[in-house]
Order: sequence, then structure tokens, then C-alpha cells
Amino acid sequence: MSDTAANVNAAETEYEPVVGMECHAELLTNSKMFCGCRNEFGGEPNTRCCPVCTGMPGALPVMNIQAVEHVMRTAIALNCSINPHAKFDRKNYYYPDLPKGYQISEYDIPIGVTGWLDIEVNGQPKRIHIRRVHLEEDTGKLFHVAGDESFVDLNRSGVPLMEIVTDFPPDIQSAEEGREYLTRLRSILTYIGVCDGKMEEGSLRCEPNVSVRPVGSNTFGTKTEIKNLNSFRSVYKGIEFETQRQAELLRKGERVVQETRGWNDTRQVTFSQRSKEGEEEYRYFPEPDLVPLHINEDWIERVRASMPELPDARRARFISEFALPPYDAGILTDTRAVADYFEETARLCGDAKTTSNWVMGDLAKLLNASGTEIGASPITPAALAEMIGLITDGTISGKIAKQLIEEMYATGGSPKTIVEEKGWKTIKDSGAVLAAVEKVFAANPNIITDIKVKGLVGKRGFLVGQVMRETQGKADPGEVNRLIDEKLAD
Ligand SMILES: [Zn+2]
Repeated sequence: MSDTAANVNAAETEYEPVVGMECHAELLTNSKMFCGCRNEFGGEPNTRCCPVCTGMPGALPVMNIQAVEHVMRTAIALNCSINPHAKFDRKNYYYPDLPKGYQISEYDIPIGVTGWLDIEVNGQPKRIHIRRVHLEEDTGKLFHVAGDESFVDLNRSGVPLMEIVTDFPPDIQSAEEGREYLTRLRSILTYIGVCDGKMEEGSLRCEPNVSVRPVGSNTFGTKTEIKNLNSFRSVYKGIEFETQRQAELLRKGERVVQETRGWNDTRQVTFSQRSKEGEEEYRYFPEPDLVPLHINEDWIERVRASMPELPDARRARFISEFALPPYDAGILTDTRAVADYFEETARLCGDAKTTSNWVMGDLAKLLNASGTEIGASPITPAALAEMIGLITDGTISGKIAKQLIEEMYATGGSPKTIVEEKGWKTIKDSGAVLAAVEKVFAANPNIITDIKVKGLVGKRGFLVGQVMRETQGKADPGEVNRLIDEKLAD
């Protein structure tokens, strides 16, 4: 092959990404990792810190057991083994938001090891192997303002932070798989109550490392790590951009540099930040101020027994127990709050599919429009179940129900009371419906002729619509149809 031909081939090589994921989750605990300061998002800067979390000389850390159990719960949910003797280490580096000059982390013996998480992309199941789940502490936060001033807020310093790292060689091979992995992971973490999953507040952060290789090859290229991604979309776009950028470089015969890259969300591009430190530069050593962590079988079993049903199991149960279509079951189990809401309503009214339709349809629309979480819905599961009962027993029509749910959402009122006050009950009295039918027939002689003489039966629907209108949607549709057929046959 001539040089020219080789170059042409290089320029046309197709590349595929290989993606590893490091996710950091701030844990939902009352206090910080090693001191009694409150663990909460935001607030006046530097109002929730003490000598321990600001790293004053001589201050001693005390381990937060709630945080340790959150990591154990996560390890169990991700099918990991739990190390009976985990320990903490110091990761030494200086940064202005880390006044201690080191971070307490777990280096060689993390709490959880070797697990997996199953995902599905385009109907294809895939197992993503997890290498480790460990516990560490978060750093403070820097604020850079216009000009050359910077400020530090240490409220976040010492907040319990869990890191979840996928295994090598990486299983994730596309931006879609990366996004799906993160979606499933977030769902699990919020289900088991260890993290609130708020990516926009930084309580769940994800750093994909991306390399590319020629399609079909099993070698590994040089990887870059993308920082500061705070949405599912930016994770997807970041992986996609980095794949294209690296493939472009290789096609031109250039090299990919191993480095950390930032993400510019406005321009949707990654940019070079710093060359990646090697592990040896952190000078890890066992944390001398903390005893090793002994986790026995009893403790693991106690934590396991307190675990809720996980999203995959709940999805499967919704399909088998409530006979829901897989699509509905998937949406309804996406968050624990929605699943709980649905399940309570379905049990109260005894009609799962109708409940599913209202929860995914009108209720979701009302919640979205007002930016309300389902847990804070003005319509309780009991109220929604009562409303569905009114449709089932024929008290109201489906059409009226659409108005009713809006009124319930706006006022928080009981459906029965609203229906009573507004006079929205279905008219079951045949005399009243017949009067409306006769009025509509009298007002539309041409339509009647079209149907009866010319056989234009398609126009019958117009009559039904007029009668419903005449009765403000309250007539029983079965009765309307019966009476119209009777009159047309006269
Ligand atoms: Zn503190």
C-alpha cells in the first residue's frame, strides 16, 4: 500500500467511543461527614462550618455512621461485595477550596467493590460493571466574580460524598448508553434515599472519561476526562463532542493528549483545563485520625433488610400485579415518589390502568405547568381515587372529569363536593336528555333530512355533539345515543 493510500484510509477510519464513568453523589445526611455541622444546600456562605470541616490544626474527625450506611445501601443496590475491613486515607493536594490541604477518602480498600447495573438502550439490555463505591468528603466552593476577585464558601466542605466508578475495561460505548447509565443510577440513588439526585444543585455530578478506537478494535486510546457536567443532556452532548473531537484528531494523524477538559454549556464544547495528575502525586496514606471500619455480616444484613424495592423490581411487579403495559410501568417507576403515588391511588380505586392514564396524563401536565413535585401535589392519591370512582360509577362523564381535575388541582377540594357545587353530575333522567334531543332535532331539520333521506350517517356525530353541548357535557353518552337512534328511526 502506498503512503497516500494509507493516509486516505486513516482519514476515513470510523471510530467508536469507550466511556468510563465517575459519579459523585452528595449523601442525604443530617450532618457532615466528620463533624456536627448541618448538611444542607445553599444558605449564607460560611455559616455552616467549624474547626473540623475548615481543617484547623488539631481538630479531630468523627465518622458519620449514617453516611457509611448510605454507601452500604448503594453497594447492595449495585450488586457489590462489601469489604469487611474498609479504611479511610488522606488524598493530599492543595486547592483554595480545600484549606486542610487534603481530602479524607478511601484509596485501596473502598466499602463496595465489583458490582453491576443493568441498562437498556433501544430495547437492548446491557450490563455495566461497577468497580467500586467509596466514601469521601466534599470540598468547599469557589466563586470567581468579575475582575480578579475570588471568594470561598466552606458550607459544602466536609459534606459526605460518595463516588461510584465503573469498571475497566469500560462497558459504555455510546453517548446514549452513558446517559442511560446515569439515568438508572440516579433513579436507584433516589429510591434508596441516599441522594436527592439534584444535578442542577451539584448533589449528583458525573465525570465521563472518553477515549476512541477504530470500530471493531479492542485496543484502548488515550482518554480525556470531562468535568462540570450538570445535566443528562450535557453528559450526552459532552461524550458526543469528545468522541468527534478525538476522532478528528486521529484522522488528521495527530495525538489525543491525556487531560481534564471542562464543558462549556453555552457553546456545547469541551475545552482543555489541566493535564491529569497521576495517582502517585496525591501521596495517599492511611488517615491516622480515624480507626478502620469493621463491617460484619450482621450489619450488612440489617442494612439489606431496610432496603426498599428497587426500580427494576417495581417495574416488573407493576406489569405482573397491575397488568400495566411496560411503557406505563417504566414511566411510573422512574421515581419512587411517582411510583408510590400511583400505587396508593390504584389500590384505593381498584382500577390501575385508569389511574396510570390520569397520573401520566392530566395530573403530570398540571404538575409540570406549576413546577410542582408529585409529593406536594394538591390532589392526594385519595382524592384522585375518589374522582376515578365517580367516573366508574357513572356520576360524571370523562369529559367533565377533565374539568374536575383542574378544579381539584386549583382548589385542593374534594371531587364529590366540587361536583355537587358545580352541578356536574351526569343527567341520568331520560326525560331531561330526551328534551335536549328533541330541541336539537327541532333546530337542525336539514341535518335530519341529510341523515334520513340522503343516508349521510356521518352527520349523526354532529347531533350527539349538540346534545352534549345542550347538557353541558353532563348527559350520559349511552342514553344520548339510544335516544338519537330512536328518534332517527321514527
Ligand atoms: Zn464542621
